[in-house]
Amino acid sequence: MLFGRKNLFSATDAFPLTDAVLEFDDSSSVAVRPGRRALDGFGPRGERSASSKWWAVAGLIGLYALALAGFYALGVVGAQVLWVLAGLTAAGFAVFGAVFRSGLQRKLRLRHLKLGIVTTAIGGMLVVFYLEPVTQILLAPFMFVAVAYGIFTVPRRTLLVLTAAVLCAYAAVIAAHYAEQGNDALLRLELMHLLALAVSVPAFIVLMGRVQRLYRSLYQASRKIKNIQEDAQRDTLLGCFNRRYILAALEEQKQLADESGIPLCLAVLDIDHFKRINDELGHLGGDEVLRTFARIAQQGVRGGDVFGRYGGEEFLLIFPATSLLPSLNTCERIRAQVESHAWTGLLKGRVTVSIGVTQYVLGESVLEFFSRADTAMYMAKEGGRNQVVVEEPIAKGDSQMSDLSIPSSHAFL
Ligand code: GH3
Ligand code: MG
Ligand code: MG
Repeated sequence: MLFGRKNLFSATDAFPLTDAVLEFDDSSSVAVRPGRRALDGFGPRGERSASSKWWAVAGLIGLYALALAGFYALGVVGAQVLWVLAGLTAAGFAVFGAVFRSGLQRKLRLRHLKLGIVTTAIGGMLVVFYLEPVTQILLAPFMFVAVAYGIFTVPRRTLLVLTAAVLCAYAAVIAAHYAEQGNDALLRLELMHLLALAVSVPAFIVLMGRVQRLYRSLYQASRKIKNIQEDAQRDTLLGCFNRRYILAALEEQKQLADESGIPLCLAVLDIDHFKRINDELGHLGGDEVLRTFARIAQQGVRGGDVFGRYGGEEFLLIFPATSLLPSLNTCERIRAQVESHAWTGLLKGRVTVSIGVTQYVLGESVLEFFSRADTAMYMAKEGGRNQVVVEEPIAKGDSQMSDLSIPSSHAFL
């Protein structure tokens, strides 16, 4: 659904990507459209929390440790190997934790460090295998698990190279075992395991390439959808929300206010004598004034407020969960900032805005709500422009009223 209820219209997390799709963020194959985020000062979003990343790794290590504990219970491995595993795990978490905390992985453009984690995990299993040859039974299945963990981020070719390196290390451990024990039967068994891994892991990686491609397409498609969704809600000239979005937001906020009873306010903003500005500066100059105005207004509102272009040089500002007085204060601040902005040349001291603001009355229609704010804006024009007018709502029955003791129409300048 385009407009979710939670964090509705918040400017921080409009369309988060799924975790699965985010796995591909290490890939540079998809260009993220620049500028969008900067436009509204959005921060990075959609990132999985650090703890959820760690839980996946810890869970897999836990499974391996569980199997090893079972081996210990069966009396086929000593307790010392469990301590070694605990030590290796603690060291691994300490090192990767430090890297993530320092942000080094971002500098290296490897957000998840999956290759490092997979390599470390397999390396740890080889150490355990060296200490207890019987754990080769675990090495094969857990090598598949480790490769599957990295498959969505680490390129296939890299995984194949890693596999070759692991097989070489495996062979070295086998040689070490033979050198230490001179056990022919063990040598044959370990060589059989090595052979099984040598043929099956590369085949698995090649086959998983199809899944990689599928995920990559999913990622690209979701990026495109996200851009289309953003375009659909943005004004192409000004970058703020467009008429369609702001009206949908108004309807949604009205419903929320009806359901919850929380206050809701709306302001209509209209640039004064904009036609004259156009006449004197041309339409391109007028466009620049609109852009600057939209930027000033957006900088002047709080995170939850929704600012958008209604049409021409008219804008709407929705104040969710806000009563009349703070809404009025914000409008007055924007009016003052527009007036005192360092406009240059012909514009000096001539760009001002008239604002009408009102509070929602429970149960009224969006049209009634909007009309009241619009009427207040026209009263600001009639009152001499460059001012904010509050149109206090007439209560329907016992509906909520603003608790401001101000006249039903009041100009602030
Ligand atoms: P008032 O103070 O009563 O609001 O007067 P005004 O001149 O601002 O209002 P009016 O409605 O007479 O003129 C609005 C002008 O805004 C007319 C239109 O050409 C211009 N306009 C609408 N959209 C745009 C736009 O995207 N860019 C530019 N440059 N001008 C626009
Ligand atoms: Mg105007
Ligand atoms: Mg107008």
